[in-house]
Order: sequence, then C-alpha cells, then structure tokens
Amino acid sequence: MIELSAERILEAKANLGEGPLWDHRAKVLWWLDILASRVHRFEPKSGKNDTWDVGQMVGTVVCRKQGGLMLALEDGFATFDTESGVAKVVADPESEKSDNRFNDGKCDPAGRFWAGTMNKGDALQLRTGALYSLDTDLSIRKHLEPVGVSNGIVWSKDAKSMYYIDTASKAVDRFDYDLETGNISQRQTVFKVPEEMGYPDGMAIDNQDKLWVAFWNGWQVARICPQEGKVIATIKLPVANVTACAFGGAALDQLYITTARVGLSDDELAKQPMAGDLFLGQPGVHGVESSNFAG
Ligand code: CA
Repeated sequence: MIELSAERILEAKANLGEGPLWDHRAKVLWWLDILASRVHRFEPKSGKNDTWDVGQMVGTVVCRKQGGLMLALEDGFATFDTESGVAKVVADPESEKSDNRFNDGKCDPAGRFWAGTMNKGDALQLRTGALYSLDTDLSIRKHLEPVGVSNGIVWSKDAKSMYYIDTASKAVDRFDYDLETGNISQRQTVFKVPEEMGYPDGMAIDNQDKLWVAFWNGWQVARICPQEGKVIATIKLPVANVTACAFGGAALDQLYITTARVGLSDDELAKQPMAGDLFLGQPGVHGVESSNFAG
C-alpha cells in the first residue's frame, strides 16, 4: 500500500465542502459548501478564495463550453453567471419532490451534464433520489432510481465505462457506457467498501483509469483499481469526513480534496480543527481534464 501526503491549503471551515472541479481555462478550482448554499472559486496562484451565495443548496458545479458555469441546485439544473451572481434554473425533473435536492454530478465526454438527487433528511435510509442527465438541448433523462445519496460520477478514457457511487450502497459501481446515446447498462459492483473505510463519497479518475474515492467518516482518499477491486494507495487526512476530490494544477498532477464539519460533535470538532478545510494531495499520477457542459 502506497501512502501519499496532503496538506491544508485553505482554512475554509466549510459546513459541507464538496464538488471540487478544476477549471483548466481559468486555472482555478471551483468548489461548494452545499449546506451553506455557497459556490467558491479558489485561485492557487494568489491563494484567494471568492464566494457566491446562490440562495439554495448547491450540489454540483461544472464549466460550460460557451463560458460560465452550470449548477445542480435544490430546484434543478441551472445556469450560473458569476458576473451578476444570478443562477437560473433551466430544468427541474423533481418539482414535485420538495424533500429532495441535487447532489454530486459531472459532465460526460460528449458534454452531457449528469447529476443525481438525494433526500434532505435521512437519505441513507429513505432512498428517494434518482440519477439524471441534462442533454445539450436541455432535455432531461432519468437513468436510475431509487438512489440513496447520488455521488461520484466519472468516465474511463475510452468512455466505455461510467463509474458511480450511491453512498447508501457502500460500493463503487460500473456501468457500460454508450457515449453516442448517453445510455447506461450492465451495473456491477467493482469495489465493496469494507466497514472500517466509512462511506464512499466523491470520486475522480486518473489517466491510468484508476479511481480516487473520498471516504466520509473514513479519514482518507483511496486510489482504487476497478479491475482488481482493491485499494492501491491512500491519502490519510486529519479529518473524518472527506467528501470529494479533483485533479488540478496546470499539469493535473495535484489532487484537491474537500472536507466537512457537519455531523461532528463539539468534542470531535475540537480534535479535528481542520474539518471543512481544503486540502491538496500529491497523487504521484496525472488526472484527466473534466468535460464541460456542451449545451
Ligand atoms: Ca458528495
């Protein structure tokens, strides 16, 4: 087992830090505090962190090919203009489900925006979520339900595999992916999470098609081989709730890692003063560029 290092780069104290996304055009990291309704932009060069309050819980941020950003909000998929600070919902597949909100998502290599939902209450038990994609013509498709906590979507280099995490199932799953149609099929578990690792949350993929999974209540990010179903390397963190990770830096050779404070007692918070902060790991491999929304 290879043990890799990480250091704190921003004292953010986010309630639920999440959704890191490297913007290779602007050379900045977008990330979120879901429960605080905040979109953050961290510029590594200056160390500056800018923040927008979008007025409702925000589960995903992705870049748009034509410029600007897309968000997955409580109320659905939205465009977001950082100049005006205005988020505008363009499609809401769950207008009838006020107990749900959008959670994690990403764009596929064809530029479709995938994101899933979860219950705002006890999502692990209630499993009222579903997985959707927003096509480039702004039409929505539902791909999967029920889902507990929709997380961690990445595609292999050949785009023939989509890896997905429903945190409630404590597993990393693989689907056959049809890039032409955007359809998934043949779900299978590639990594069953052992009890001591906690809950699988966000996920990134490197240029060797290995998975980097953040573990809630697991104190780490683990590099997992989906073919062999085993952990190859870990990045241990000084906080229990590790939520998501993303490759970044000009060479995509660094791993940005988000964490959370929510759910920790005062005692636990005293022992984890860096909970909710932003970390930077040295993965020793390169990532792949995130795809932009092409609609
Ligand atoms: Ca998550």
